[in-house]
Amino acid sequence: MTLLEQLDRQHFFHPGTHAYDHATGTLPGFIIGEGRGIHLTDVAGREYIDGFSGLYCVNVGYGRDEIAERMAAQCKRLSYYHTYVGSANEPVIELSRRLIEDWAPPGMVKVFYGMSGSDANETQIKLVWYYNNILGRKNKKKIIARDRAYHGSGIVTGALTGLPAYHANFDSPFDRVVRAMCPDYYRNAVPGSSEADFTAHCVAELESLIEREGADTIAAFIAEPMNGTGGIVPPPEGYWPAVQALLRRHDILLIADEVVCGFGRLGARTGCERFGIAPDLLTFAKGLTSAYAPLSAVVVGEAFWDVLMSGSREHGVMGHGWTYSGHPLGAIAGLANLDIMERERLVDNADDVGGYLLERLRAAFGAHRLVGDIRGVGMLMAIQLMQDPATRTPFPPERRINAGVVAAAREHGLLIRALGADIVGFAPPLITTREQADDIVARVQAAFDDALSG
Ligand SMILES: *Cc1c(COP(=O)(O)O)cnc(C)c1O
Repeated sequence: MTLLEQLDRQHFFHPGTHAYDHATGTLPGFIIGEGRGIHLTDVAGREYIDGFSGLYCVNVGYGRDEIAERMAAQCKRLSYYHTYVGSANEPVIELSRRLIEDWAPPGMVKVFYGMSGSDANETQIKLVWYYNNILGRKNKKKIIARDRAYHGSGIVTGALTGLPAYHANFDSPFDRVVRAMCPDYYRNAVPGSSEADFTAHCVAELESLIEREGADTIAAFIAEPMNGTGGIVPPPEGYWPAVQALLRRHDILLIADEVVCGFGRLGARTGCERFGIAPDLLTFAKGLTSAYAPLSAVVVGEAFWDVLMSGSREHGVMGHGWTYSGHPLGAIAGLANLDIMERERLVDNADDVGGYLLERLRAAFGAHRLVGDIRGVGMLMAIQLMQDPATRTPFPPERRINAGVVAAAREHGLLIRALGADIVGFAPPLITTREQADDIVARVQAAFDDALSG
Protein backbone atom coordinates (compact mmCIF):
# COMPACT_ATOMS: atom_id res chain seq x y z
CA MET A 1 0.00 0.00 0.00
CA THR A 2 1.39 3.43 -0.93
CA LEU A 3 1.67 6.26 1.59
CA LEU A 4 -1.13 8.12 -0.21
CA GLU A 5 -3.43 5.08 0.12
CA GLN A 6 -2.50 4.76 3.76
CA LEU A 7 -3.33 8.40 4.47
CA ASP A 8 -6.59 8.07 2.51
CA ARG A 9 -7.65 5.30 4.86
CA GLN A 10 -6.54 7.19 7.92
CA HIS A 11 -8.48 10.45 7.80
CA PHE A 12 -10.77 10.74 4.77
CA PHE A 13 -14.39 9.82 5.57
CA HIS A 14 -15.74 8.59 2.22
CA PRO A 15 -19.42 8.86 1.27
CA GLY A 16 -21.33 5.67 0.47
CA THR A 17 -18.42 3.47 1.55
CA HIS A 18 -18.17 0.36 3.74
CA ALA A 19 -16.28 1.99 6.62
CA TYR A 20 -14.71 -1.17 8.07
CA ASP A 21 -13.71 -2.73 4.74
CA HIS A 22 -12.14 0.53 3.65
CA ALA A 23 -10.25 1.09 6.90
CA THR A 24 -8.88 -2.46 6.88
CA GLY A 25 -7.97 -2.50 3.19
CA THR A 26 -10.47 -5.21 2.16
CA LEU A 27 -11.98 -2.57 -0.11
CA PRO A 28 -9.28 -1.45 -2.53
CA GLY A 29 -8.74 2.30 -2.77
CA PHE A 30 -9.02 4.12 -6.08
CA ILE A 31 -7.16 7.40 -6.29
CA ILE A 32 -7.66 9.38 -9.48
CA GLY A 33 -4.93 11.75 -10.58
CA GLU A 34 -6.16 13.43 -13.76
CA GLY A 35 -8.80 13.54 -16.45
CA ARG A 36 -9.03 14.56 -20.14
CA GLY A 37 -12.04 14.12 -22.39
CA ILE A 38 -13.68 10.78 -21.51
CA HIS A 39 -10.50 9.44 -19.90
CA LEU A 40 -9.26 9.31 -16.33
CA THR A 41 -5.82 8.30 -15.10
CA ASP A 42 -5.22 6.97 -11.60
CA VAL A 43 -2.18 7.94 -9.54
CA ALA A 44 -0.44 4.70 -10.52
CA GLY A 45 -0.70 5.78 -14.17
CA ARG A 46 -3.45 3.40 -15.36
CA GLU A 47 -5.89 4.91 -17.86
CA TYR A 48 -9.65 4.32 -17.93
CA ILE A 49 -12.63 5.30 -20.05
CA ASP A 50 -15.12 6.88 -17.67
CA GLY A 51 -18.30 5.16 -18.83
CA PHE A 52 -20.35 6.82 -16.07
CA SER A 53 -19.20 10.48 -16.29
CA GLY A 54 -18.17 10.42 -12.63
CA LEU A 55 -21.66 10.10 -11.15
CA TYR A 56 -23.45 10.94 -14.42
CA CYS A 57 -22.36 14.54 -14.09
CA VAL A 58 -19.24 15.27 -16.16
CA ASN A 59 -21.30 15.74 -19.32
CA VAL A 60 -18.78 17.82 -21.31
CA GLY A 61 -15.85 15.62 -20.27
CA TYR A 62 -12.77 16.31 -18.16
CA GLY A 63 -10.04 18.89 -18.55
CA ARG A 64 -11.96 21.63 -20.33
CA ASP A 65 -9.50 24.55 -20.24
CA GLU A 66 -12.23 26.98 -21.23
CA ILE A 67 -14.19 26.30 -18.03
CA ALA A 68 -11.06 26.37 -15.87
CA GLU A 69 -9.96 29.69 -17.36
CA ARG A 70 -13.31 31.40 -16.94
CA MET A 71 -13.52 30.15 -13.34
CA ALA A 72 -10.02 31.48 -12.66
CA ALA A 73 -10.84 34.86 -14.19
CA GLN A 74 -14.07 35.11 -12.16
CA CYS A 75 -12.23 34.06 -9.02
CA LYS A 76 -9.78 36.95 -9.50
CA ARG A 77 -12.53 39.46 -10.34
CA LEU A 78 -15.05 38.49 -7.66
CA SER A 79 -14.65 35.21 -5.78
CA TYR A 80 -17.75 35.65 -3.64
CA TYR A 81 -20.39 37.92 -2.33
CA HIS A 82 -23.65 36.70 -0.80
CA THR A 83 -26.98 36.95 -2.61
CA TYR A 84 -29.24 37.63 0.40
CA VAL A 85 -31.41 40.78 0.66
CA GLY A 86 -31.44 41.34 -3.10
CA SER A 87 -27.65 41.19 -3.72
CA ALA A 88 -26.42 39.53 -6.89
CA ASN A 89 -23.39 39.03 -9.11
CA GLU A 90 -23.03 39.12 -12.88
CA PRO A 91 -22.68 35.39 -13.67
CA VAL A 92 -25.65 34.32 -11.56
CA ILE A 93 -27.97 36.77 -13.30
CA GLU A 94 -26.86 35.62 -16.73
CA LEU A 95 -27.06 31.92 -15.78
CA SER A 96 -30.62 32.38 -14.51
CA ARG A 97 -31.65 34.00 -17.81
CA ARG A 98 -30.04 31.19 -19.81
CA LEU A 99 -31.71 28.48 -17.72
CA ILE A 100 -35.18 30.01 -18.01
CA GLU A 101 -34.97 31.11 -21.64
CA ASP A 102 -32.97 28.29 -23.20
CA TRP A 103 -32.93 25.15 -21.05
CA ALA A 104 -35.95 24.79 -18.73
CA PRO A 105 -39.37 23.76 -20.04
CA PRO A 106 -41.91 26.53 -20.83
CA GLY A 107 -43.68 28.27 -17.93
CA MET A 108 -40.73 28.41 -15.51
CA VAL A 109 -39.81 31.87 -14.23
CA LYS A 110 -37.34 31.84 -11.31
CA VAL A 111 -34.18 30.01 -10.22
CA PHE A 112 -32.97 29.44 -6.63
CA TYR A 113 -29.44 28.04 -6.21
CA GLY A 114 -27.84 25.50 -3.91
CA MET A 115 -24.72 23.36 -3.95
CA SER A 116 -26.09 19.83 -4.43
CA GLY A 117 -29.06 17.89 -5.71
CA SER A 118 -29.90 16.93 -2.14
CA ASP A 119 -30.04 20.49 -0.83
CA ALA A 120 -32.06 21.55 -3.89
CA ASN A 121 -34.65 18.86 -3.19
CA GLU A 122 -34.71 19.81 0.50
CA THR A 123 -35.54 23.34 -0.72
CA GLN A 124 -38.29 21.94 -2.96
CA ILE A 125 -40.04 20.28 -0.03
CA LYS A 126 -39.72 23.36 2.17
CA LEU A 127 -41.16 25.50 -0.64
CA VAL A 128 -44.08 23.12 -1.15
CA TRP A 129 -44.95 23.15 2.59
CA TYR A 130 -44.56 26.93 2.70
CA TYR A 131 -46.81 27.24 -0.39
CA ASN A 132 -49.61 25.23 1.18
CA ASN A 133 -49.33 27.16 4.43
CA ILE A 134 -49.65 30.43 2.49
CA LEU A 135 -52.74 29.00 0.79
CA GLY A 136 -54.15 27.98 4.18
CA ARG A 137 -54.04 24.24 3.36
CA LYS A 138 -52.41 23.11 6.60
CA ASN A 139 -53.04 19.40 6.01
CA LYS A 140 -51.89 19.19 2.39
CA LYS A 141 -48.30 18.25 3.21
CA LYS A 142 -47.54 14.66 2.21
CA ILE A 143 -45.12 13.98 -0.62
CA ILE A 144 -45.46 11.00 -2.95
CA ALA A 145 -42.14 9.48 -4.01
CA ARG A 146 -41.60 6.28 -5.94
CA ASP A 147 -40.00 3.03 -4.97
CA ARG A 148 -36.34 2.95 -6.20
CA ALA A 149 -36.32 6.75 -6.61
CA TYR A 150 -33.18 8.71 -5.79
CA HIS A 151 -33.68 12.24 -4.53
CA GLY A 152 -30.59 12.66 -2.35
CA SER A 153 -29.46 11.79 1.15
CA GLY A 154 -30.52 14.78 3.24
CA ILE A 155 -33.03 14.48 6.08
CA VAL A 156 -36.23 14.64 4.05
CA THR A 157 -34.64 13.77 0.70
CA GLY A 158 -33.13 10.60 2.15
CA ALA A 159 -36.65 9.62 3.18
CA LEU A 160 -37.97 10.40 -0.31
CA THR A 161 -35.25 8.22 -1.84
CA GLY A 162 -36.80 4.79 -2.33
CA LEU A 163 -33.73 2.68 -1.56
CA PRO A 164 -33.58 0.88 1.82
CA ALA A 165 -29.87 1.57 2.45
CA TYR A 166 -30.67 5.28 2.68
CA HIS A 167 -33.15 4.68 5.49
CA ALA A 168 -31.70 1.95 7.69
CA ASN A 169 -30.63 3.29 11.09
CA PHE A 170 -31.10 6.95 10.11
CA ASP A 171 -34.51 7.59 11.73
CA SER A 172 -35.82 8.94 8.42
CA PRO A 173 -38.94 11.11 8.89
CA PHE A 174 -41.49 9.08 6.92
CA ASP A 175 -44.62 10.59 8.41
CA ARG A 176 -45.07 12.81 5.36
CA VAL A 177 -43.77 10.40 2.72
CA VAL A 178 -46.07 8.18 0.67
CA ARG A 179 -44.53 5.53 -1.60
CA ALA A 180 -45.75 4.75 -5.12
CA MET A 181 -44.54 1.84 -7.24
CA CYS A 182 -41.56 1.98 -9.59
CA PRO A 183 -42.81 1.89 -13.20
CA ASP A 184 -40.36 -0.86 -14.18
CA TYR A 185 -42.05 -2.64 -17.07
CA TYR A 186 -39.51 -5.46 -17.21
CA ARG A 187 -39.59 -6.32 -13.50
CA ASN A 188 -43.06 -5.27 -12.37
CA ALA A 189 -45.43 -5.94 -15.29
CA VAL A 190 -47.51 -9.09 -15.32
CA PRO A 191 -45.88 -11.30 -18.01
CA GLY A 192 -47.64 -10.87 -21.34
CA SER A 193 -49.18 -7.48 -20.56
CA SER A 194 -48.38 -4.62 -22.96
CA GLU A 195 -46.56 -1.46 -21.99
CA ALA A 196 -49.84 0.45 -22.28
CA ASP A 197 -51.52 -2.07 -19.91
CA PHE A 198 -48.66 -1.65 -17.48
CA THR A 199 -48.96 2.15 -17.62
CA ALA A 200 -52.66 1.85 -16.84
CA HIS A 201 -51.76 -0.40 -13.90
CA CYS A 202 -49.21 2.14 -12.54
CA VAL A 203 -51.67 5.01 -12.86
CA ALA A 204 -54.47 3.02 -11.19
CA GLU A 205 -52.12 2.21 -8.30
CA LEU A 206 -51.26 5.89 -7.94
CA GLU A 207 -54.91 6.88 -8.06
CA SER A 208 -55.95 4.41 -5.36
CA LEU A 209 -53.05 5.58 -3.22
CA ILE A 210 -54.22 9.20 -3.57
CA GLU A 211 -57.77 8.19 -2.71
CA ARG A 212 -56.64 6.16 0.28
CA GLU A 213 -54.55 9.01 1.72
CA GLY A 214 -56.97 11.76 0.63
CA ALA A 215 -55.93 14.28 -2.03
CA ASP A 216 -56.35 17.08 0.51
CA THR A 217 -53.39 15.61 2.47
CA ILE A 218 -51.02 15.28 -0.51
CA ALA A 219 -48.94 18.27 -1.55
CA ALA A 220 -46.67 16.96 -4.27
CA PHE A 221 -45.41 14.08 -6.36
CA ILE A 222 -41.64 14.04 -6.85
CA ALA A 223 -40.04 11.89 -9.53
CA GLU A 224 -37.13 11.58 -11.89
CA PRO A 225 -38.45 11.81 -15.47
CA MET A 226 -36.46 8.61 -15.98
CA ASN A 227 -35.30 6.66 -12.93
CA GLY A 228 -31.51 6.74 -12.54
CA THR A 229 -29.78 5.33 -9.46
CA GLY A 230 -32.65 2.90 -8.77
CA GLY A 231 -31.68 0.98 -11.90
CA ILE A 232 -32.00 3.18 -15.03
CA VAL A 233 -35.63 2.49 -15.83
CA PRO A 234 -37.28 4.33 -18.74
CA PRO A 235 -40.96 5.18 -18.12
CA PRO A 236 -43.39 2.92 -19.95
CA GLU A 237 -45.27 4.28 -22.96
CA GLY A 238 -47.80 6.97 -22.07
CA TYR A 239 -46.82 7.05 -18.38
CA TRP A 240 -46.10 10.76 -18.00
CA PRO A 241 -49.17 12.25 -19.74
CA ALA A 242 -51.42 9.94 -17.70
CA VAL A 243 -49.68 10.63 -14.38
CA GLN A 244 -49.70 14.35 -14.99
CA ALA A 245 -53.40 14.41 -15.79
CA LEU A 246 -54.13 12.49 -12.58
CA LEU A 247 -52.04 14.89 -10.46
CA ARG A 248 -53.76 17.92 -11.99
CA ARG A 249 -57.15 16.44 -11.24
CA HIS A 250 -56.19 16.19 -7.56
CA ASP A 251 -54.35 19.53 -7.33
CA ILE A 252 -51.06 17.80 -6.51
CA LEU A 253 -47.85 19.61 -7.51
CA LEU A 254 -45.32 17.88 -9.74
CA ILE A 255 -41.62 18.22 -8.86
CA ALA A 256 -39.43 16.97 -11.70
CA ASP A 257 -36.06 15.82 -10.35
CA GLU A 258 -33.87 16.48 -13.40
CA VAL A 259 -30.60 16.05 -11.54
CA VAL A 260 -29.52 13.22 -13.86
CA CYS A 261 -31.84 13.76 -16.85
CA GLY A 262 -31.21 17.49 -17.33
CA PHE A 263 -28.67 18.97 -19.74
CA GLY A 264 -28.75 16.45 -22.53
CA ARG A 265 -28.36 13.15 -20.72
CA LEU A 266 -31.51 11.78 -22.40
CA GLY A 267 -30.78 13.29 -25.81
CA ALA A 268 -33.09 16.25 -25.09
CA ARG A 269 -32.48 19.40 -23.09
CA THR A 270 -34.43 17.93 -20.16
CA GLY A 271 -36.30 14.77 -19.27
CA CYS A 272 -39.42 16.95 -19.22
CA GLU A 273 -38.84 17.85 -22.84
CA ARG A 274 -38.13 14.24 -23.72
CA PHE A 275 -41.34 12.88 -22.17
CA GLY A 276 -43.68 15.89 -22.52
CA ILE A 277 -43.82 16.83 -18.83
CA ALA A 278 -44.88 20.32 -17.65
CA PRO A 279 -43.72 20.45 -14.00
CA ASP A 280 -44.56 23.00 -11.31
CA LEU A 281 -41.03 22.78 -9.90
CA LEU A 282 -37.85 21.35 -11.30
CA THR A 283 -34.46 20.40 -9.81
CA PHE A 284 -31.16 20.66 -11.66
CA ALA A 285 -27.68 19.74 -10.38
CA LYS A 286 -25.04 17.32 -11.75
CA GLY A 287 -24.91 18.31 -15.45
CA LEU A 288 -25.58 21.99 -14.69
CA THR A 289 -21.82 22.62 -14.35
CA SER A 290 -20.64 19.20 -15.57
CA ALA A 291 -19.35 19.00 -11.96
CA TYR A 292 -16.66 21.64 -12.50
CA ALA A 293 -18.18 23.32 -9.42
CA PRO A 294 -20.86 22.23 -6.95
CA LEU A 295 -24.09 23.92 -8.06
CA SER A 296 -27.77 23.03 -8.02
CA ALA A 297 -30.90 24.87 -9.05
CA VAL A 298 -34.54 24.88 -8.00
CA VAL A 299 -36.53 26.16 -10.96
CA VAL A 300 -39.96 27.56 -10.10
CA GLY A 301 -43.02 27.80 -12.34
CA GLU A 302 -45.07 30.96 -12.68
CA ALA A 303 -48.22 30.03 -10.73
CA PHE A 304 -46.14 28.71 -7.83
CA TRP A 305 -44.00 31.85 -7.80
CA ASP A 306 -47.08 34.06 -7.61
CA VAL A 307 -48.07 32.31 -4.37
CA LEU A 308 -44.57 32.75 -2.91
CA MET A 309 -44.73 36.46 -3.71
CA SER A 310 -48.12 36.88 -2.07
CA GLY A 311 -46.69 35.01 0.93
CA SER A 312 -43.96 37.60 1.37
CA ARG A 313 -46.50 40.41 1.39
CA GLU A 314 -48.27 38.65 4.23
CA HIS A 315 -45.35 37.13 6.18
CA GLY A 316 -42.25 39.11 5.15
CA VAL A 317 -38.89 37.64 4.17
CA MET A 318 -38.85 33.92 3.37
CA GLY A 319 -36.38 32.47 5.87
CA HIS A 320 -34.60 30.10 3.54
CA GLY A 321 -31.21 30.27 1.86
CA TRP A 322 -27.57 29.17 1.98
CA THR A 323 -24.37 31.16 2.39
CA TYR A 324 -23.32 29.89 -1.04
CA SER A 325 -26.66 30.36 -2.89
CA GLY A 326 -25.79 31.85 -6.29
CA HIS A 327 -22.03 31.49 -5.79
CA PRO A 328 -20.27 33.26 -8.70
CA LEU A 329 -17.78 30.41 -9.28
CA GLY A 330 -20.59 27.88 -9.65
CA ALA A 331 -22.49 30.27 -11.90
CA ILE A 332 -19.52 30.95 -14.20
CA ALA A 333 -18.83 27.21 -14.43
CA GLY A 334 -22.48 26.72 -15.40
CA LEU A 335 -22.28 29.40 -18.08
CA ALA A 336 -19.06 28.02 -19.57
CA ASN A 337 -20.56 24.52 -19.48
CA LEU A 338 -23.72 25.64 -21.31
CA ASP A 339 -21.59 27.42 -23.93
CA ILE A 340 -19.81 24.13 -24.65
CA MET A 341 -23.07 22.13 -24.61
CA GLU A 342 -24.58 24.50 -27.19
CA ARG A 343 -21.54 25.08 -29.41
CA GLU A 344 -20.72 21.37 -29.67
CA ARG A 345 -24.39 20.35 -29.97
CA LEU A 346 -23.95 17.78 -27.23
CA VAL A 347 -27.68 17.20 -26.74
CA ASP A 348 -27.83 15.92 -30.32
CA ASN A 349 -24.64 13.93 -29.86
CA ALA A 350 -26.09 12.25 -26.76
CA ASP A 351 -29.13 11.23 -28.76
CA ASP A 352 -27.08 9.97 -31.70
CA VAL A 353 -24.20 8.21 -29.93
CA GLY A 354 -26.43 7.07 -27.05
CA GLY A 355 -28.80 5.41 -29.52
CA TYR A 356 -25.84 3.83 -31.28
CA LEU A 357 -24.31 2.52 -28.05
CA LEU A 358 -27.64 1.00 -26.95
CA GLU A 359 -27.97 -0.71 -30.32
CA ARG A 360 -24.40 -2.08 -30.10
CA LEU A 361 -24.97 -3.35 -26.55
CA ARG A 362 -28.14 -5.10 -27.69
CA ALA A 363 -26.32 -6.64 -30.65
CA ALA A 364 -23.49 -7.87 -28.42
CA PHE A 365 -25.40 -9.03 -25.32
CA GLY A 366 -29.09 -9.28 -26.23
CA ALA A 367 -28.84 -13.06 -26.61
CA HIS A 368 -26.46 -13.62 -23.66
CA ARG A 369 -27.71 -16.41 -21.40
CA LEU A 370 -27.60 -14.17 -18.29
CA VAL A 371 -29.03 -10.95 -19.78
CA GLY A 372 -32.72 -10.22 -19.24
CA ASP A 373 -33.10 -6.68 -20.50
CA ILE A 374 -31.05 -3.95 -22.18
CA ARG A 375 -32.71 -0.56 -21.98
CA GLY A 376 -31.98 3.14 -22.16
CA VAL A 377 -32.76 6.60 -23.47
CA GLY A 378 -30.10 8.96 -24.86
CA MET A 379 -26.74 8.49 -23.14
CA LEU A 380 -28.16 6.58 -20.16
CA MET A 381 -28.58 2.83 -20.37
CA ALA A 382 -28.43 -0.41 -18.42
CA ILE A 383 -27.99 -4.13 -18.75
CA GLN A 384 -30.22 -6.14 -16.42
CA LEU A 385 -28.60 -9.46 -15.50
CA MET A 386 -30.83 -12.45 -14.72
CA GLN A 387 -30.02 -15.95 -13.53
CA ASP A 388 -32.63 -17.28 -15.95
CA PRO A 389 -34.05 -14.70 -18.37
CA ALA A 390 -36.59 -17.21 -19.78
CA THR A 391 -38.39 -17.54 -16.43
CA ARG A 392 -37.30 -14.07 -15.23
CA THR A 393 -35.57 -15.57 -12.23
CA PRO A 394 -33.17 -13.07 -10.65
CA PHE A 395 -29.85 -13.92 -9.07
CA PRO A 396 -29.92 -14.02 -5.27
CA PRO A 397 -29.22 -10.36 -4.32
CA GLU A 398 -26.37 -11.28 -1.97
CA ARG A 399 -24.50 -12.66 -4.98
CA ARG A 400 -24.10 -9.06 -6.28
CA ILE A 401 -23.55 -10.44 -9.73
CA ASN A 402 -23.19 -6.93 -11.21
CA ALA A 403 -20.32 -5.99 -8.89
CA GLY A 404 -18.16 -8.71 -10.47
CA VAL A 405 -18.83 -7.35 -13.96
CA VAL A 406 -18.03 -3.79 -12.88
CA ALA A 407 -14.79 -4.91 -11.19
CA ALA A 408 -13.77 -6.89 -14.30
CA ALA A 409 -14.56 -3.87 -16.51
CA ARG A 410 -12.23 -1.76 -14.41
CA GLU A 411 -9.48 -4.31 -15.03
CA HIS A 412 -10.11 -3.72 -18.73
CA GLY A 413 -9.93 0.05 -18.33
CA LEU A 414 -13.64 0.87 -18.25
CA LEU A 415 -15.50 2.49 -15.35
CA ILE A 416 -19.20 1.61 -15.19
CA ARG A 417 -21.57 1.37 -12.22
CA ALA A 418 -23.35 -1.44 -10.39
CA LEU A 419 -26.93 -0.46 -9.50
CA GLY A 420 -29.04 -2.60 -7.19
CA ALA A 421 -27.78 -6.18 -7.13
CA ASP A 422 -28.03 -7.11 -10.80
CA ILE A 423 -28.00 -4.00 -12.99
CA VAL A 424 -24.97 -2.60 -14.83
CA GLY A 425 -25.32 1.08 -15.68
CA PHE A 426 -23.76 3.17 -18.44
CA ALA A 427 -23.71 6.96 -18.67
CA PRO A 428 -20.70 8.06 -20.70
CA PRO A 429 -19.87 11.75 -21.18
CA LEU A 430 -22.03 13.41 -23.86
CA ILE A 431 -18.89 14.08 -25.96
CA THR A 432 -18.39 10.33 -26.54
CA THR A 433 -17.91 9.41 -30.22
CA ARG A 434 -19.21 6.31 -32.04
CA GLU A 435 -15.64 4.92 -32.18
CA GLN A 436 -15.34 5.33 -28.41
CA ALA A 437 -18.75 3.67 -28.01
CA ASP A 438 -17.37 0.66 -29.93
CA ASP A 439 -14.39 0.64 -27.59
CA ILE A 440 -16.74 0.63 -24.58
CA VAL A 441 -18.65 -2.37 -25.96
CA ALA A 442 -15.40 -4.27 -26.57
CA ARG A 443 -14.34 -3.70 -22.96
CA VAL A 444 -17.75 -4.79 -21.65
CA GLN A 445 -17.36 -7.94 -23.73
CA ALA A 446 -14.02 -8.64 -22.07
CA ALA A 447 -15.54 -8.01 -18.63
CA PHE A 448 -18.46 -10.35 -19.36
CA ASP A 449 -16.00 -13.04 -20.52
CA ASP A 450 -14.05 -12.70 -17.28
CA ALA A 451 -16.91 -12.36 -14.81
CA LEU A 452 -19.79 -14.40 -16.24
CA SER A 453 -18.26 -17.33 -18.09
CA GLY A 454 -17.88 -19.57 -15.00
C1 LIG B 1 -27.52 12.61 -7.47
C2 LIG B 1 -28.97 12.87 -7.36
C3 LIG B 1 -29.50 13.70 -6.36
C4 LIG B 1 -28.66 14.23 -5.24
O1 LIG B 1 -27.64 15.05 -5.67
P1 LIG B 1 -26.37 15.30 -4.69
O2 LIG B 1 -25.63 16.38 -5.43
O3 LIG B 1 -25.65 14.02 -4.60
O4 LIG B 1 -26.90 15.76 -3.41
C5 LIG B 1 -30.84 14.00 -6.40
N1 LIG B 1 -31.63 13.50 -7.35
C6 LIG B 1 -31.17 12.69 -8.32
C7 LIG B 1 -32.10 12.20 -9.36
C8 LIG B 1 -29.83 12.33 -8.34
O5 LIG B 1 -29.37 11.48 -9.26
